[in-house]
Amino acid sequence: MGSRGTDIFHPSFSTEPYWWEAWKPLPGRGHRDLPSRVDVALIGGGLASLNAALELARSGASVCVLEASVFGVGASTRNGGAVSSSVNIGKGLGGVKGRSAAETAAEKKALLVDGSQALGLLETIIAREGIDCDYVPSGRFTGAFTRKDYASLEKQCALLNEHTDANAHMLPRERQREEMASDFYFGGIVVERSGKLHPAKYYGGLLAATERAGAALVAEAPVTGLVREAGGWRVVTPRGEVRAEKIFAGTNGYTGPATPSLRRRAVPVASHMIATEELDPDLAKSLIPKGRTLGETKRVLCYYRLSPDGKRVLFGGRPRFTQVDARTSARLLHALMVQRFPQLSGVRVTHNWMGNLAFSFDHLPHMGEIDGIHYAMCCNGSGVAMLGWLGQQSARKMLGGSNRVNAFDGRPFPTVPLYAGNPWFLPLIGAWYRHLDKRDRAAAERETA
Ligand SMILES: Cc1cc2nc3c(=O)[nH]c(=O)nc-3n(C[C@H](O)[C@H](O)[C@H](O)COP(=O)(O)OP(=O)(O)OC[C@H]3O[C@@H](n4cnc5c(N)ncnc54)[C@H](O)[C@@H]3O)c2cc1C
Repeated sequence: MGSRGTDIFHPSFSTEPYWWEAWKPLPGRGHRDLPSRVDVALIGGGLASLNAALELARSGASVCVLEASVFGVGASTRNGGAVSSSVNIGKGLGGVKGRSAAETAAEKKALLVDGSQALGLLETIIAREGIDCDYVPSGRFTGAFTRKDYASLEKQCALLNEHTDANAHMLPRERQREEMASDFYFGGIVVERSGKLHPAKYYGGLLAATERAGAALVAEAPVTGLVREAGGWRVVTPRGEVRAEKIFAGTNGYTGPATPSLRRRAVPVASHMIATEELDPDLAKSLIPKGRTLGETKRVLCYYRLSPDGKRVLFGGRPRFTQVDARTSARLLHALMVQRFPQLSGVRVTHNWMGNLAFSFDHLPHMGEIDGIHYAMCCNGSGVAMLGWLGQQSARKMLGGSNRVNAFDGRPFPTVPLYAGNPWFLPLIGAWYRHLDKRDRAAAERETA
């Protein structure tokens, strides 16, 4: 620890997720033969599919989960482990043609009310399945990047408290040090009903629970074709074929050509994280005194927290929306971290990793059915609780209990002309957003001065 000139890299620097030191996706797990016939075949082995498979298997359906690579290789073991009680629906419902203000308000309410069930499901599964994943209902602090953002957060706070059990309150800038050892933000919002967990341990526990419930887990089985047949589907993989009555796609930021309609709607975005070396215990304790997860209102946002043992900072963001080499992204994230916590300037980075999440064109999570394929995807970076819940809700729908299970189900899932799954525009959008962030922040600082 301590200052070491400009070299931010620890000698043990690794490009694997920090989380994988506790639970690592390994070949051999779930390497089963393909069943010849199942009720439901689930494509992708992340949290969305596992939650759906668990619910289906517990209800007596026969299911197989087909994972293209090794189980746990996707975003579900790579994320920040922040779990929120709510969905950010601010942008998603603005400006929908033909919808009145009253209809928009009613839909917002329905999405907030239904979406707030996601955290409860996650807590239920952790408790019921006995998953040891360092879950703490720590709450979350989101800092306002500008004064204007603070005013928007006030509106969001009122909305959350009106429609959900978020238990949110505003924290003005003068009191910000109650939450973090930094004056970087213009105050912010505290949402008590939020938490944090160890994502890889949570994933490992859920994978084991899904297998215990009777789901067939089939690794190294990329789905390359889906053929409609009488009574269902023929699912094609290089390892053979399986017949299924129903199909579910939980492929999110890794959605590929097997489901072209979904690929046209999910925009894959790279998110990057670093872990610091172990910090001086007093310094570590002082940074985030209440141990909450931290985020911010910036367009190109950062999110951060302490590691479950409280010894390191885990800092994430989208310094670039696409893949960049590990050392470049580590340098960018380190600089952003030091901007927020200058006291970490001499601290070295031990891990840098990335993963893909998925955005939708309306900035909202989606579940439903397209071309006969059930899906749950696009949580815009907050999928740990929400995509699991949408997976479980999709399972309930497939089980036939209800044609529409919640306010997210079956909403229009927009695409844009000429987009077929290659997000060539992301570097441009990233650069534009960074410019807007810089401009707004400079204006906010001028006002303060
Ligand atoms: C760096 C990072 C930080 C994040 N931080 C947070 C956070 O703090 N809080 C939060 O709530 N969310 C966070 N997220 C988002 C969250 O991790 C995701 O929303 C969630 O894990 C997505 O789960 P999933 O099951 O939909 O997809 P994934 O876990 O990505 O799984 C999709 C799987 O589908 C497989 N697949 C794709 N195509 C096929 C095919 N044809 N056949 C078979 N398999 C296929 C892939 O191999 C992959 O394993 C973060 C994401 C990243 C990348």
